[in-house]
Amino acid sequence: MSQTIYEFSFPTTVRFGAGSRHEIPTALKAAAVHRPLLVTDQGIAPLPFLQAMVAALQQAGLDVAVYSGVVGNPVKSQVTAGVEAFQAHQADAIVAVGGGAAMDVAKAIALMAHHPGDLFEYEDGKPDARPVDHAIPYLVAVPTTAGTGSEVGRSTVISDDATHAKKIIFSPRLLPQKVFADPELLLGLPPNVTAATGMDALTHCVEAYLAKGYQPLCDGIALEGVRLVAQNLVPSVEHGQNLEARTGMLAAAMMGAVAFQKGLGATHSCAHALSTVYDFHHGFANALMIPYVMEFNRAVVADKLRMLAIAAAAPEQTAEGFIQWLVDLKARVGIPAKLSQVGVTPDKLEALVAVALADGCHSLNPRTCTADDLRHIYLAAL
Ligand SMILES: [Zn+2]
Repeated sequence: MSQTIYEFSFPTTVRFGAGSRHEIPTALKAAAVHRPLLVTDQGIAPLPFLQAMVAALQQAGLDVAVYSGVVGNPVKSQVTAGVEAFQAHQADAIVAVGGGAAMDVAKAIALMAHHPGDLFEYEDGKPDARPVDHAIPYLVAVPTTAGTGSEVGRSTVISDDATHAKKIIFSPRLLPQKVFADPELLLGLPPNVTAATGMDALTHCVEAYLAKGYQPLCDGIALEGVRLVAQNLVPSVEHGQNLEARTGMLAAAMMGAVAFQKGLGATHSCAHALSTVYDFHHGFANALMIPYVMEFNRAVVADKLRMLAIAAAAPEQTAEGFIQWLVDLKARVGIPAKLSQVGVTPDKLEALVAVALADGCHSLNPRTCTADDLRHIYLAAL
């Protein structure tokens, strides 16, 4: 595959292509950065590519420190420790390297570097929320998964350490100034992570496309994102070293995140509840739920589900055919069909319904969801 590096601005500038990570030192210097804090997770910190990245930054004359306290679903204490690392290093920029968790923690560190008070006082939609009105340090994002697309998103989702309740903090200022999307960084990703993150990207495209509201730009991006997932997810899972498939998924993940500016849907509400109650990986939780939510939606958006079937090149290009395609794709990439297969038990049903109902994502679901509707969706999925 050619080593061409492209540039997209939507509105984040994305340097996209194999090897684009090698441009980071020059880009930081051009932005007058001297002391970057590299934020990553515990799994990535010891990997050779990260060591090479740190060495390249040092060779360019930058005084870099590494904060690698991100692990599992992001929680507030990881942000607090990261802000301390930022201040101890007297950092002037943040380089986020990792999947959605590292990206979200890095954005929250960037927010709290120069903002007073407690992180959760900035929660989106909170009546007395503090405004995001101070400067944000120069923030660069380097995704190592193709999933959340958080690198081109303007929100961060951080959970409370004790309750696991997810808090969304939203501001256009949280958009990374520059993204280095390098598919070579995805080559070593294990199949289960590739599958779960890829299903998250797919769910973003599908739910954004179906979300209420008039946003034809997002709709077009979402449909092309579905096509890219349909072409590239299975090859990425089955042949991790397939650079072309990894490239397609990396693009699809960003497209999902651009598209879901329009909104998401009930799959995300159900998945957020599964992560809160069972601490499941976000993409895995979406993958578990999506066919059941689409079955619920079918009564009101059959035509749009048919368009999704066409985008996915499903064998049967109908609403039912799209749902069957989702079921088959899950099986193909190793995601269990039913919640009962992953330890979800009926005694937690009411807890799941309560969290899902309180979650904001389903407010834009094409079919309105009551508590009873969510209960039926979970029961179908059990
Ligand atoms: Zn998601």
